[in-house]
Amino acid sequence: MTTRLFDSHSHIQMSQFDGDREGVIRRARDAGLVGQLVLGTDVTSSMSAIELAATEPDIYAAAGCHPHDAKDMDEASLDKLAKLAEDPHVAIVGEIGLDFYRNLSPHDVQIEVLNRQLELAGDVSKPVALHGREAHQALLPFVEAWSRRMGGRLPDGRRLGVMHYFDGGLELARRYGNLGFFISIHCSVTYPNAGTLAEVAAELPLDVLLVETDSPYGPPQSRRGQRNEPAYLEEAVLKIAQLRSEKIERVAETTTANAFRLLGITDTAQPPLERAGAMEERGAQ
Ligand SMILES: [Zn+2]
Repeated sequence: MTTRLFDSHSHIQMSQFDGDREGVIRRARDAGLVGQLVLGTDVTSSMSAIELAATEPDIYAAAGCHPHDAKDMDEASLDKLAKLAEDPHVAIVGEIGLDFYRNLSPHDVQIEVLNRQLELAGDVSKPVALHGREAHQALLPFVEAWSRRMGGRLPDGRRLGVMHYFDGGLELARRYGNLGFFISIHCSVTYPNAGTLAEVAAELPLDVLLVETDSPYGPPQSRRGQRNEPAYLEEAVLKIAQLRSEKIERVAETTTANAFRLLGITDTAQPPLERAGAMEERGAQ
């Protein structure tokens, strides 16, 4: 694979990778990945993500509290997260959001922790990675309010974040896009029953798409039942390219450039400002 890939959502700091994390990182590079965003789900896993980002040049960290873990947050841990969010290795506040599917934290607690972290992201002028499962109705008003307060973009003009593992329809995807978010297409787009997601991957402008594995969860079709890892991302990108009748190189390059732009990473292989400007215009049409 000669094109570049970027996994916008992984959790390779988790214990599932303790036995072979170096191999996982090496295989990702061999598979064409030039970067991955490793997301925290609580204070401890956010610190582990930062440690990885401090030692591996192509790993970027996110610090945040997942809605599942919201019930364990207190003022002290929110303070700790606020400090972590300022760390230069932290590119994003996340993952944050609402999960009314597994309901591992009470809804009101999830909402409180979400809003505190949206405020935090605004304070440190960093984007957010959103998780929404069976909760978009509840999530949208908070995201809308935050987007409005932020003026639809970060102070430096970047998009406000990404809706990860998107599981809604085209109309919902466009709403998040208009609020200033990228839409991340997960490996599950390769499943035979991907219906709605396949439509989203085919129809949205490429300029608002990111791709992700969410490792260790949800492997692509050819690896069903196995642990997922970032090296398997290409299968999803190939599927998206087929759905769009586009070359895989174009999908790979554009989603990689999108990830660089979101994270504020200087893209040495592309003229980022010209490219970003051109893509933003096309996306608005
Ligand atoms: Zn995740």
